[in-house]
Amino acid sequence: MRKPIIAANWKMNKTVQEGKSFSTLLPADTSLYQEVEVVICPPFTALQAVGEELKGKGIKLGGQNLYPMEKGAFTGEVSPLMLQDLGCTYVILGHSERRHLLGEKDEFINQKVKAAFAFDLLPILCLGETLEQRQKGATEEVCHQQLQGSLKDIEAQDVAQMVIAYEPVWAIGTGVHARPADAEKTIACLRQVISKEWGEEIGAAVRIQYGGSVKPENIREFMSCANIDGALVGGASLKADSFYQIVRGAREGSE
Ligand code: PEP
Repeated sequence: MRKPIIAANWKMNKTVQEGKSFSTLLPADTSLYQEVEVVICPPFTALQAVGEELKGKGIKLGGQNLYPMEKGAFTGEVSPLMLQDLGCTYVILGHSERRHLLGEKDEFINQKVKAAFAFDLLPILCLGETLEQRQKGATEEVCHQQLQGSLKDIEAQDVAQMVIAYEPVWAIGTGVHARPADAEKTIACLRQVISKEWGEEIGAAVRIQYGGSVKPENIREFMSCANIDGALVGGASLKADSFYQIVRGAREGSE
């Protein structure tokens, strides 16, 4: 039985004060957070303050990116050591905004995945097709390529621990979510690819989220799909109330 996982990707939103007030407003529902793993990924500038505020609530902290070196002359970058130092457990890697706006390729993302594991950070590896690729019928091929390129030479036991987020690019921030049955089909294929590459046990253990316009109104339907283990949430994670409704919906939908 895989534990559901809901992660909040705040992207480039929230000052320190705004991050703190979100954390204060989020109900201290520790029994819920034991059943559904909850991760908040604030911008780097708010990580420490949000981490302090969330202490004792049973909620984990994640970074939104890292540079694959421990330290050095990399102006403007943040290292896995720095994320670890601030108490992060997870790190989002390969998000479509970084792939498409900043030109990140699978090879570079693969270096980041390795750097994350080297510092005990669990990657939330994002992948997904563009609308054009979907219309060409290339969804599965694109997702498999991104998966294999980003996870090249990663050990089976590491793959079992990490999280994959299937996020169709056309569904991110658009208000148009994938049909749960379509997301389930792609995620089931990804699980098969993982089983073939790293073994049945790993394929059965790895958690795969859906991401793209998830809201309190649609989370239950995604969670009722056999292969969907949670969600990566952007816009609807910015308000404590809607994010909390999503976490509650995830528990109900997966029952
Ligand atoms: C995301 O940024 O990963 C995301 C899924 O955003 P949204 O929920 O706003 O579509």
